[in-house]
Amino acid sequence: MQDPVGLNGEMVTDCVELCGLDLSIKLSRGGVEPHDIEAEIESNWEEVVDNFDNMNLKPELLRGIYAYGFEKPSAIQQRAILPVIKGHDVIAQAQSGTGKTATFSISILQKLDMDVNKCQALILAPTRELAQQIQKVVIALGDFMNVECHASIGGTNVREGIKKLEQGIHVVVGTPGRVYDMINRGALKTDSIKMFVLDEADEMLSRGFKEQIYDVFQLLPPSTQVVLLSATMPSDVLEVTTKFMREPVRILVKRDELTLEGIKQFYIAVEKEEWKLDTLCDLYETVTITQAVIFCNTRRKVDWLTEKLHQREFTVSAMHGDMDQAQRDVIMKEFRSGSSRVLITTDLLARGIDVQQVSLVINYDLPTNRENYIHRIGRGGRFGRKGVAINFVASEDVRMLRDIEQFYNTQIDEMPMNVADLI
Ligand code: ADP
Repeated sequence: MQDPVGLNGEMVTDCVELCGLDLSIKLSRGGVEPHDIEAEIESNWEEVVDNFDNMNLKPELLRGIYAYGFEKPSAIQQRAILPVIKGHDVIAQAQSGTGKTATFSISILQKLDMDVNKCQALILAPTRELAQQIQKVVIALGDFMNVECHASIGGTNVREGIKKLEQGIHVVVGTPGRVYDMINRGALKTDSIKMFVLDEADEMLSRGFKEQIYDVFQLLPPSTQVVLLSATMPSDVLEVTTKFMREPVRILVKRDELTLEGIKQFYIAVEKEEWKLDTLCDLYETVTITQAVIFCNTRRKVDWLTEKLHQREFTVSAMHGDMDQAQRDVIMKEFRSGSSRVLITTDLLARGIDVQQVSLVINYDLPTNRENYIHRIGRGGRFGRKGVAINFVASEDVRMLRDIEQFYNTQIDEMPMNVADLI
């Protein structure tokens, strides 16, 4: 049987590309995006708790947090953990790499009733890799609670998934299609679910995913608490949330505060598409000083670029949504371990993926949507580390680059000769 969920990863990229096309058409006609002229929706929650000790957490959870190496909560953790624990619906926006995963993971773990061996929290993420990453964080933070957390994702064995769910699981993190399938098969029981978390919420509520999310949502108990997180929250998405959230607490970041100071952004004027390859080869030494992610806009381009670089005997690995899950898992594992240092990919990996050693992101192609620019460059400079983003800009991309600069009120300078010193 064909697995409908197996397509999740691909849908992300395709959807992003489609949205982006729309956007670029509007821009080239000199149109103005609706959210350019709207007043930005603001935060409505000010309370801050700047210490994990003062959050009234279960001792075994607190122990898990410290054992994981966290000393002090990040800004979003200081603001969002408590309202989630208190049971509010919450929309939490914070810059890339500032600890949103632990924000919802800690809140969920605190609210779990460990005497109930049933699924109490459901987390959805747009890609299998991100779902797997989240599962590891939940398990690690809940290490002293004996938490059972299962990743229900496309591309994995359905029967094994069912068996795992039947054993009794407290938290399920998955991709929408497979989770929906598991609920429909009766393998994932929803009656004890009290929290529904959407990571990368704007992506999840965009075209391509929205219906699937609503389908799942409808199968949850009506009292389920909803928590949304992302680095980007376009105002049209914020408006949609009024349909299914109850008086949500909003913790939001202003658009011009979204780019991180630690990530230096540059461009290289390559003029023509054909000159990008040589430019990248010239940069290869710089690239391999660190771990780097190189983004292209299509899977075909990823394959093409990988082959060209291999022909020139450069060592790079590649990943996109056409690869089977076993292959994807191997590539991710090698990149996470550092045994592969340069990863060429699509927007499949633009969001959420946390590899602390990545300090360089190259946009071989500029992203076709503004949100993904922020997500892509956020793969470097995790949790306050330094990072560099380099954008290859052909003549026809100049307009898009200026648009990004203006939209986020940020500066993208021409790449200096000493870029290696900044990594
Ligand atoms: P986001 O989802 O906001 O992009 P992540 O949740 O992936 O960011 O966190 C980014 C990195 O920061 C991770 O490697 C995580 O382990 C680390 N991190 C998160 N919170 C803390 C903290 N309070 N102290 C130290 N490191 C943290």
